[in-house]
Amino acid sequence: MLSLRPAIFLDRDGVINVDHGYPHKLEHFAFMPDAETAIKHAHDKNIPIFIVTNQGGIGLGYFDITAMRQFHDHMLAQIADAGGHITDIAYCPHHPKSADPVMRDCDCRKPKPGMILDLAQRHQIDVSKSIMIGDRPTDMEAASSAGCQGFLYQGGSLLTVMDSALQHIANVAKTIS
Ligand SMILES: [Zn+2]
Repeated sequence: MLSLRPAIFLDRDGVINVDHGYPHKLEHFAFMPDAETAIKHAHDKNIPIFIVTNQGGIGLGYFDITAMRQFHDHMLAQIADAGGHITDIAYCPHHPKSADPVMRDCDCRKPKPGMILDLAQRHQIDVSKSIMIGDRPTDMEAASSAGCQGFLYQGGSLLTVMDSALQHIANVAKTIS
């Protein structure tokens, strides 16, 4: 029987990188405190990390998918330099105020759980043993709709929240086995 693994789902803006409003330019990229070390900690414990991010700036026409991908490549390179790894990234390009009607409605924009559920299915993840770390109530809502535990990050060292999350995952594993 295939056993499903726990994972950590991370919001991007305001959790991994500083959020100054629709960040997408490389020169504006900066890690939140200890974010790269926090990601390394999860990697060291063999817990896959996924990014789950609303990028409504695409739907609003502020930047395009190519710019977002360049931003991600830049971020992933710095995470790798610090010894960490991101397994996959899910993004929602939609926004309810998009000028393009087909970009307005979707099942992925948080607080909807679509991105978490999709990643979980594609990567054999057990959401019930997993954690979503985010800085907004919509992240916590998405977590609860997906059936995973939400951890609210309220600034300061991301390492503190990450280590609690990793401890929680270890405790759940102990209870089950
Ligand atoms: Zn969407």
